[in-house]
Amino acid sequence: MTQIQIELENIEKLQTHNKKPVLIAGPCSAESREQVLDCATQLSAQGIGIFRAGVWKPRTRPSCFGGVGEPALKWLKEVKEKTGMAVTTEVAHARHVEAALEAGIDILWIGARTTTSPFAVQEIADSLRNIDIPVLVKNPINAELDLWLGAFERLAGAGVKRLAAIHRGFSSYGERIYRYAPHWQIPVELRRRIPGLPVLCDPSHIAGRSDLVGLVAQMALDMKSDGLFIEVHPNPEKALSDKAQQLTPAEFKQLTESLVCHKDPDDEDLAVLQPYREQIEAIDRKLTATLAERLEAARLTGDLKRLRNLTVLQPGHYRSLIDEMIAEGCKYGLDEEFVRSIFEIIHAESIHNQLEAYNKKREPEA
Ligand code: PEP
Ligand code: MN
Repeated sequence: MTQIQIELENIEKLQTHNKKPVLIAGPCSAESREQVLDCATQLSAQGIGIFRAGVWKPRTRPSCFGGVGEPALKWLKEVKEKTGMAVTTEVAHARHVEAALEAGIDILWIGARTTTSPFAVQEIADSLRNIDIPVLVKNPINAELDLWLGAFERLAGAGVKRLAAIHRGFSSYGERIYRYAPHWQIPVELRRRIPGLPVLCDPSHIAGRSDLVGLVAQMALDMKSDGLFIEVHPNPEKALSDKAQQLTPAEFKQLTESLVCHKDPDDEDLAVLQPYREQIEAIDRKLTATLAERLEAARLTGDLKRLRNLTVLQPGHYRSLIDEMIAEGCKYGLDEEFVRSIFEIIHAESIHNQLEAYNKKREPEA
């Protein structure tokens, strides 16, 4: 895949190098003037500088509260005037952008459902040409890195310079602890693909339950998150949306006071890590050589299968390979799912190589 190059400037208020992570907090939805001002006043008293509140809410089911809409923008304006906080809200299309800019919203965010839609993201990007405002882009609701990258490319292509990402978890079907699975490797890969991009975490939507928000927030900081985007409501039980995951201002205070922040490694830290890193690198080199050897052996097996007119896939053999390797991994205390997924990938690559060899032999002679 190609490495995307985006000129990114740090968002002034999101600049977190060796500083505390940026904190953005506020209710899921702006519900009333009183609720918004009450929440903002309490958060401002805790030293929080950026207030979030959804004005237009993208609800999965139409029967759910869809937000107050434009009238709520003036409450956010009042928050700015009364507390001095910067305010941010979600925009999903050009008319939202226009109304938000007119109301003096400081930072825009693009929601998870919108990031999945290239048309919507392009429309937002086009509406922001020649306008200098920070934009936070939530990950798409499905676990697809390219859609997330594509949103940054569209915005950067329209000249939006102050960009940051918000990791809010990914939709998955079935039983789960979290409301949205974190899949930490996706924001990690996003950071690798867009160096310098600030990546924040929204533990509220990942957790889906207020008692888990702190745990996820700490995990995010352990994963080098640049900041946290957290839902706080003066009275979560009465919230019109996402009531199970919103914290009270007091719970939020407790959470922020208990978070362990990490520092960037200094020369001494790097020196301590160095020998272990060298050891890991040597092991990784050996692993790579062993993988090449393994694939070569599979290639030879493939030639034999073809000569003997056998199918590439031998399901019985595949099943016993996985079972045996899980048992082998067990001896070393390796996680079963880890071993399974590694050997699924290795086997898939072997089969893919064998299939290619079968097909080459079938190609007509030139
Ligand atoms: C939100 O932050 O309130 C929201 C709707 O988020 P998401 O787009 O992540 O669901
Ligand atoms: Mn919400």
